[in-house]
Amino acid sequence: MTKPAPVPVRTTCPYCGVGCGVLATPRPDGTADIKGDPAHPANFGRLCSKGSALGETLSFDDRLLYPTMNGTRATWDDALTLVASKFAETIAAHGPDSVAIYGSGQLLTEDYYVANKLMKGFIGTANMDTNSRLCMASSVAGHVRAFGSDTVPGNYQDLETADLVVLVGSNLAWCHPVLFQRLEAARQTRGTKIIVIDPRRTATCELADTHLALAPGSDVALFNGLFARLADSGRFDHAYVKQHTTGIEKALDAARAMPFAKIASITGLTPAELTAFYDSFATTERVVTIYSQGVNQSSAGTDKVNAIINCHLATGRIGREGMGPFSVTGQPNAMGGREVGGLANMLAAHMSLDDANHRRIVADVWQAPNLATKPGLKATEMFAAVGDGRIKAIWIISTNPADSLPQADAVVAALKACPFVVVSDCIAKTDTTALAHVLLPASAWGEKSGTVTNSERRISRQRPFMAAPGEAKPDWWIISEVAKRLGHAQAFAYDGPAAIFAEHARLSSAGNHGSRDFDIGAYAALPAVAYDALEPFQWPQAKGQAPRETRFFAKGNFYTPDGKARAVPTPYRAPASATNPAYALALNSGRVRDQWHTMTRTAKTPRLMTHIYEPFAEIHPADAKSANLTHGQLVTVRSPHGSVVVRADITERQRRGSVFVPMHWTDQLASNARIDAVMEAAIDPVSGQPELKHTPVAIAPFKTSHYGLLVTAQKPTLDTAYWAVTPVKGGWRAELAWTVEPSDWSALAARLLQPEAPPSSLVAYRDHASGQHRFAAFDGVDLTGALFIARTPIAVGRSWSAEQLQASFATSAQKQRLLAGRSAKATADHGPTVCACFDIGANQIASAATHGGCTTVDAIGACLKAGTNCGSCRSEIKRILDVAIAHQPLALTGRHC
Ligand code: SF4
Repeated sequence: MTKPAPVPVRTTCPYCGVGCGVLATPRPDGTADIKGDPAHPANFGRLCSKGSALGETLSFDDRLLYPTMNGTRATWDDALTLVASKFAETIAAHGPDSVAIYGSGQLLTEDYYVANKLMKGFIGTANMDTNSRLCMASSVAGHVRAFGSDTVPGNYQDLETADLVVLVGSNLAWCHPVLFQRLEAARQTRGTKIIVIDPRRTATCELADTHLALAPGSDVALFNGLFARLADSGRFDHAYVKQHTTGIEKALDAARAMPFAKIASITGLTPAELTAFYDSFATTERVVTIYSQGVNQSSAGTDKVNAIINCHLATGRIGREGMGPFSVTGQPNAMGGREVGGLANMLAAHMSLDDANHRRIVADVWQAPNLATKPGLKATEMFAAVGDGRIKAIWIISTNPADSLPQADAVVAALKACPFVVVSDCIAKTDTTALAHVLLPASAWGEKSGTVTNSERRISRQRPFMAAPGEAKPDWWIISEVAKRLGHAQAFAYDGPAAIFAEHARLSSAGNHGSRDFDIGAYAALPAVAYDALEPFQWPQAKGQAPRETRFFAKGNFYTPDGKARAVPTPYRAPASATNPAYALALNSGRVRDQWHTMTRTAKTPRLMTHIYEPFAEIHPADAKSANLTHGQLVTVRSPHGSVVVRADITERQRRGSVFVPMHWTDQLASNARIDAVMEAAIDPVSGQPELKHTPVAIAPFKTSHYGLLVTAQKPTLDTAYWAVTPVKGGWRAELAWTVEPSDWSALAARLLQPEAPPSSLVAYRDHASGQHRFAAFDGVDLTGALFIARTPIAVGRSWSAEQLQASFATSAQKQRLLAGRSAKATADHGPTVCACFDIGANQIASAATHGGCTTVDAIGACLKAGTNCGSCRSEIKRILDVAIAHQPLALTGRHC
């Protein structure tokens, strides 16, 4: 009898704020078959490259499997009791503000809810903040200033029904790929115009009609100019303004304070570019303005948000189909964290710590004896307080602040000096777990159960489809067990996430009666079985209401005392980071397409590491020339706070005067690439969000004696002056560099290529005059490793070299031939991977364009399949086509986009 086919589990992707539905079918080998959920309204079956590869990231080899105390295995009971007793002792001696929890937008809503309840309701401090502070706190602050509530007015359908979509500080193609695919599909059917406003020419620009490469940090000047132009050209919706807003005149006065010529000079855009943008916006009714980290991560982030919202309020283009300001969140549950009050300046269920009535409602529902009455410390303030001793016990949950906070070296020093550090995580070795006194193993995606909210206010279930390894437990359970040991057993006696969700829903409707935006009272009595079956729904859904598509504010009804929106004056301020002629360039950080946060999950699959496998700095050619840098060299990027050494990618996609370095690399995968160690902790005065897009830096060549490329079957232990390691199929690949030539290359090769036993055969090519040394070690017919050394960046085929770990070498001639570092066939190296789904490289795409007659992205798809699955690479294919068709050579090494 054949076994019935396993039924897929409907869950949600754990990466970005698009919140795609996933169908996960576990396989016997511990992996899972992953598909997009055709019924989920966020993605309708689509997944991007990261989501598609989720099934390859489920191994347990790097997991934290049991609790530890000071590095020694402990029982759950001992570890939890120690956490509770240390927190209790600290609170008794120094007061509740001497302890803190730092959480994450990776947490499920139920986990977040319990952590927030413990701190703000029972310990009595609002020192509960989250890495979402680094992501979208400025959007929250801007929403609250304008709307009186943290409300995203529109939904994803608006992107598909808009006539103009303006993307501000948002590389949507890489950071919210499925949303970008929806936009691209709509554009093909209805001709949606796309304008990208970004200092860098990102992948998103490849499919845009217009790219405005404005000066970093000048967005407020740009949108103030638009606001004034809308007024002057008679585009205000005076009826809407009169009936539903206040403060328009004052905001307009502030906007008009800067003349047009000055706007052009501050933004670096030509008058013609400004006029064309202003005219497009003014004359198009259906406009959506999407913004994300390029707006939020700024010392003027909240003003940027309000400058954008002002334009939509003044034209009445808000809350109606195909129009509105739209903040897209980075993390999968940044929105859920906001709903439960996970930020230090919020209460719960979108209630305010400053409102006595709200505090009474929350205290009543929670039966909380000790409700916090004032805001707590925001992320950067919190770690400053750890550093100066005000906070003496901190619990870090599901995040990696040793890498992700600005001035990260100071954060590491603060944690090293902190008397008591607890870290809950699913990964054993991160740069933060290394600093913990107590480690608590948490369940991961695929094991845990709860809900998340995406950028369009849609709440979806994350469902388990595999058992947690070792002794890992859900975060809500861990936090509740500590709460019980602190004497709050009754308030934390949850038997599962369903009970927590129902209480969260009850709190959202308590005393609400339409006075607050967040109301999911329809689920206040949801039984566990119905919770398990819960379909994705958009909030609000008050008691008695059925699920429906929702928008806010088309007819006003803002959550301010008078029900009117507030237009906020936003005078332009230059970025706050200290100016210093010794640091003349502006450092910008952000994501790359196939990586997520500090790579603890995405770096587990070679497929996602083939796109961009090494940390890099994008530098404009003129800045590179001034610094005496060439493409492919190593470069030091330095600020007064720290430095990194990364690969130089010299490209005109970067704006002159700016440098871009990705945020992902940590000490686990590179020698020195923690870019947030370089970042200054300048913050927005309203939102407390750090300025992660504008730190003054200097660049200089990293002086090397030799470069190296290593491929090995076993993970190498590296201690060279520079290294960056990545998994490949069948082993590992590392880029290396030395500052001083080693005395014995052969001994070094033997140590790197087969550290545990002498190789059965070692072949070598040595040329001392040119400084070229090549070694390959074999165990019978199998390659155990190869090392290529040169005085200049190594010019061998990366993909081809790594593929040789899976090849067979029967003859000594074949073994010798490997030392050439490339195939005898000119076409065999497919170049840096562009399409991760079908493993198609840049050289293959360029060849199909120049020799195969493919002139469009769709033609490449028909020929090579590239871009036909998840679609995340379509904008890069377009760029390669443009270059190839123009007969320009492609870079053969390093990253390609
Ligand atoms: Fe996950 Fe990609 Fe969807 Fe984001 S766009 S939720 S990363 S599948």
